[in-house]
Amino acid sequence: MEATPLPTKQAAPLRLEQALQLLAQAGHPPPAGEAGSTRWLQGLIDALVDLSSRDALTGLANRRAFELALARETDRVARSGEPALLLMLDIDHFKRVNDTWGHAAGDQVIKGVASALLDSVRPMDVVARTGGEEFAILLPNCGSAFGQTVAERVRRRVERMPVQVAAQQQISVTVSIGGAFAPQWVRSTPALWQQRADQQLYLAKAQGRNLVRLEPAAVSVVSNEEKRLLFETSQFHDLE
Ligand code: GH3
Ligand code: MG
Ligand code: MG
Repeated sequence: MEATPLPTKQAAPLRLEQALQLLAQAGHPPPAGEAGSTRWLQGLIDALVDLSSRDALTGLANRRAFELALARETDRVARSGEPALLLMLDIDHFKRVNDTWGHAAGDQVIKGVASALLDSVRPMDVVARTGGEEFAILLPNCGSAFGQTVAERVRRRVERMPVQVAAQQQISVTVSIGGAFAPQWVRSTPALWQQRADQQLYLAKAQGRNLVRLEPAAVSVVSNEEKRLLFETSQFHDLE
């Protein structure tokens, strides 16, 4: 069988200088080793992969990286039965910050919130910026007895963190947090898990903001869609 020729004519040449420029702009050190060596190229590829999974403003995981992590964790929880918590966060009245102090100050607030979130969870937890002033935290191995404590810690940390928005001016902001535990031993989907956490975030906003709302783990209802997923992937069809 003949191999399909590579589309060499149309393909843009790989611009290593541009790749290096991108890294420098993002504050990445240049790859180690002699330029052009295998070690150097591998370092460059690793650095680009790292860059493509981070949000440029905050350095947190970006939406794509978060969705990959959420899919992996959904699968892991279904197989292992270990508990895991997903928190969705949104800065309260953020439009006011932009309107009062300007967009650049708004960006400073987003960066401040990002570092407060990172400071209040374990290194194994995934902290992501999923949208403009929206964040998510994925906490593997977080039992239902600890969920409220962790989420409250995050909420308070943000509330107490001052952000410099002008020469003589510091402000503080708050976040609303919604959370849901992954259904253990159930084949669910990342989207359904996220919907549950989003519903709780919606309630936290509606009930006044600067609040944590977690779906009670014990009464998690397995939806019809989840039941269908469980049975469709069952290996025991021969017993039906
Ligand atoms: P709520 O408490 O209901 O969340 O009110 P809110 O004012 O925060 O409302 P909403 O979440 O709808 O507002 C988000 C605002 O965030 C709108 C948009 O102008 C601003 N925004 C989104 N991305 C960025 C960003 O990257 N930088 C800055 N400075 N502002 C952003
Ligand atoms: Mg929002
Ligand atoms: Mg908001």
